[in-house]
Amino acid sequence: MTDAGTLPLRNPRTGLSDGELPITSASDVAALGAQLRQVQLTWAERSIEERCARLDALADALVARRAGFLDALLADTGRWHESQIEVDGTVGAIRRWAQQAAGCLAEKPAQQEAIPFIHSQQTWVPYAVVGVISPWNFPLMLTLIDAVPALAAGCSILAKPSEVTSRFVPLLREALDEAGLGEVFKLVTGAGATGQAVIEASDQICFTGSVATGRKVGEACARRFIPASLELGGKDPALVLADANIAYAARALAWGSFVNGGQSCMSIERVYVEAAVADAFIAALVKEASALELAWPDPKQGQIGPVIAASQIELVRGQLADAKAKGARALTGGELIEHGGVWCPPTVLVDVTDEMAVVADESFASVLPVMVVADEAEAIARANATEFGLSAAVFTQSPERAQRVARQLQAGGISINDACLTGMVQTAEKQSFKLSGMGGSRMGTASIRRFVRARALLINTGTASPWWFPPA
Ligand code: NAD
Repeated sequence: MTDAGTLPLRNPRTGLSDGELPITSASDVAALGAQLRQVQLTWAERSIEERCARLDALADALVARRAGFLDALLADTGRWHESQIEVDGTVGAIRRWAQQAAGCLAEKPAQQEAIPFIHSQQTWVPYAVVGVISPWNFPLMLTLIDAVPALAAGCSILAKPSEVTSRFVPLLREALDEAGLGEVFKLVTGAGATGQAVIEASDQICFTGSVATGRKVGEACARRFIPASLELGGKDPALVLADANIAYAARALAWGSFVNGGQSCMSIERVYVEAAVADAFIAALVKEASALELAWPDPKQGQIGPVIAASQIELVRGQLADAKAKGARALTGGELIEHGGVWCPPTVLVDVTDEMAVVADESFASVLPVMVVADEAEAIARANATEFGLSAAVFTQSPERAQRVARQLQAGGISINDACLTGMVQTAEKQSFKLSGMGGSRMGTASIRRFVRARALLINTGTASPWWFPPA
């Protein structure tokens, strides 16, 4: 291995650097890619049941190291409760794929085509090396969410987690080795340059991260003619309609906006509430937000962890300052708090306008601007007036109204009378709209189909064909 230097690791609770991350050099990434391309040939020859048995073994190996993963995630993200949800949710997702993958890719016997003497057989051919590039907000989950169905499909994996949160990497390597997956799943570490090297060494890319980086990744993949699944940022709206259960909507949205300190791609980042219920809703939301506490000094107490990535601190501070300068009022929170690391207390903003950065741009923090609208039509129009289209939420007690409104929202996953259900429901297929991404669904059967190419075997069962030249 070449020595390509290290990056400092920052602890978001203390704000201090307390470790070093080795950088995998571009030449080492290339060598691992070549190695994976060889090993994948044997991996793809195993039955899907054998591959899924290894995935089950991986779930067991993660469970056996649960405490270690929690320590690594706590050190990198500063949050405890969400780390438990992350590890347990990842194990659950692996077990689900281990049970369901074979059914998703089952090959049917050859079928009679409309042309009487032709049979066809559909087969699937996995991509050899799938590169995974993941962000810092759910580091373990988002490194495995695409890798696991890809492994089941018969691909090998070259993964680069975020340089902000890679402390779990040695433990995951250990778990992969124990599960018999160490040869087909390689982890590399580093920042953007290592990510570019992963793109150069892979046959397909699954990228989760920001729109700005997603664009670079998409361009690099286009140059190589390799497919890219891009799961990018959002500015998810919630619509609270006049017939909603207001106390219920406020509870749901406090959770949907502030869980993980707002650092989830599907966080609710804007609320449009109908004027008739605006005062009651805002009062209920402020009550919910005010009851939440920082998870400090004890990470196991309180609900709101620190701002994870240092790069986020100035972004959020700037959005809050911009909003206040333009006339917004914070009814709770509103200022970042420093305890070594930096915390963003749950912040409910009113008197906000569409010109403010906090309404137009992704915040990725526990900041929730609430806008009062005249009616349903205005709520829909303003919810759609964004370059993002990840997910959204609608609150109403009328099932017909919920369907009507949800079907007009330009986003891939709409929670009705709840928030962020896309983070929990893994079978319903959804795609990202607009700048929130491109590529197939990460959920449901379509997810695993992203990792295979369709190959048709077309069989002439007769003795000639009317299309051929006449016999000589
Ligand atoms: P980011 O784009 O800064 O980084 C993501 C990954 O890309 C990291 O591993 C990084 O090292 C790598 N990278 C950076 N430059 C690169 C380059 N030039 N080529 C290849 N790789 C490169 O994103 P982030 O700050 O880590 O994550 C936050 C963003 O992720 C937010 O915008 C959030 O909405 C988004 N996100 C989306 C989803 C989703 O499913 N849609 C889920 C989680 C997070």
